[in-house]
Amino acid sequence: MPNSDFNVVSPVAPTSIAPRADQEILNVKGVSRGFKKSQGDLLVLDDVNLSLREGEIVGLLGRSGSGKSTLLRIIAGLIEPTTGDVTYKGKPLEGPADGVAMVFQTFALFPWLTVLQNVEAGLEAQGVSAAPRRARALAAIDLIGLDGFENAYPRELSGGMRQRVGFARALVVDPTLLLMDEPFSALDVLTAENLRTDLLDLWTQGKMPIKSVLIVTHNIEEAVFMCDRIMVLSSNPGRVIAEIQVPFKHPRNRLDTAFRSLVDEIYAKMTARQSGEATKQTLEFGSRLPHVSTNLLAGLIETLAAAPYNGRADMPVIARSLHLEVDDLFPIAEMLQHLGFAELREGDIYLTPSAHVFADLGTHERKMMFAEHLLKHVPLAARIKKVLNERPGHRAPRVRFEQELEDFLTDGAAEDTLDSVINWGRYGEVFSYNDQTELFSLEDVES
Ligand code: ADP
Ligand code: MG
Repeated sequence: MPNSDFNVVSPVAPTSIAPRADQEILNVKGVSRGFKKSQGDLLVLDDVNLSLREGEIVGLLGRSGSGKSTLLRIIAGLIEPTTGDVTYKGKPLEGPADGVAMVFQTFALFPWLTVLQNVEAGLEAQGVSAAPRRARALAAIDLIGLDGFENAYPRELSGGMRQRVGFARALVVDPTLLLMDEPFSALDVLTAENLRTDLLDLWTQGKMPIKSVLIVTHNIEEAVFMCDRIMVLSSNPGRVIAEIQVPFKHPRNRLDTAFRSLVDEIYAKMTARQSGEATKQTLEFGSRLPHVSTNLLAGLIETLAAAPYNGRADMPVIARSLHLEVDDLFPIAEMLQHLGFAELREGDIYLTPSAHVFADLGTHERKMMFAEHLLKHVPLAARIKKVLNERPGHRAPRVRFEQELEDFLTDGAAEDTLDSVINWGRYGEVFSYNDQTELFSLEDVES
């Protein structure tokens, strides 16, 4: 797919791009970043250190909300750290640096421009004149496997092809450092794998002028598939909790035993760390609640209660069998733990005795049991119920709780958290909620 006789973008012969592990391109030292909230700062990144050297692809792996995009924006010079330093090629970073390009999860392409014009747009901003601009844009388009689509408009392209235009737009500026923020996560499985493989081919064949790549992902397999080194970030706040060397040569085979066991090892590291924190950490009123449906919660309990698991499973094994990414499984498993239905220990999930009881109940009894656990373990649910009980009309507007939550969480997180508790509360018939009037009430609730 990528054109093999390409040689315009890269001024250097492929052989001269051999890894030079001694050459540091980027250094992040003691970086912390907080965001102001009315109840003090929300600390998102805490004392992050990392170094990128020439010739390597480094992965930044963490769950959503762990601060990966924030860190990438700091490195791109788009926002400043609260404390700490970033140096790029030995100099302190002051705003976006030349030679650093970014690829996003989805690109805002100009709909009224063709593929070629979209790719050229990046160079126009740099003041490159028309002829070399066109030549370089065409070369980047060729390189990324878009030849033949030069005159197409974005609306005529599939999601995968549009993402390729985004890559071409990043590559056309001849970046030294390529930053990628979950660049494959909006694509279907096959399209994503094609694009990953094409990029890795270009990288290993030295066809891109790029010296170093930093890729953000929440997908463990993707990190092991692509990276030479993986930095694992914890959540709340984001800290580097592990640095893992990936010793495999490209192309890598996801089915290799060694590949699989590295994926499992990282899974265990991430769960061990997260559950270690979770056991100490009971939910508080202002805790952010994940968006997990009661169907998923009940479904995971049922799956785990039945053979072959019989109440215990390896997290990577159960994730794979349910086709879930780490970002999908962790919140479900952790929510089960918060609700007293499971315990997470060193990469394993165990059902509690209550969960075994739950699995054997009928629909109505399940709802009652769920309600009991919800009120006992989720303070926000208990608070809503209490307010409704105390008010004469047994009603309260959503905005009241949203405002209380916003003292602890960002606006978006407060809304998501409230949406989650609404779903669970409805299922357990703890309260009802009217989407039109945005009112909580105790109507139609059995007490
Ligand atoms: P990730 O990319 O790992 O999913 P982000 O870096 O996007 O994580 O976000 C980490 C946390 O920082 C989240 O809780 C998010 O709500 C918060 N956050 C990010 N940007 C801002 C901002 N501009 N203002 C307030 N909070 C923010
Ligand atoms: Mg992100």
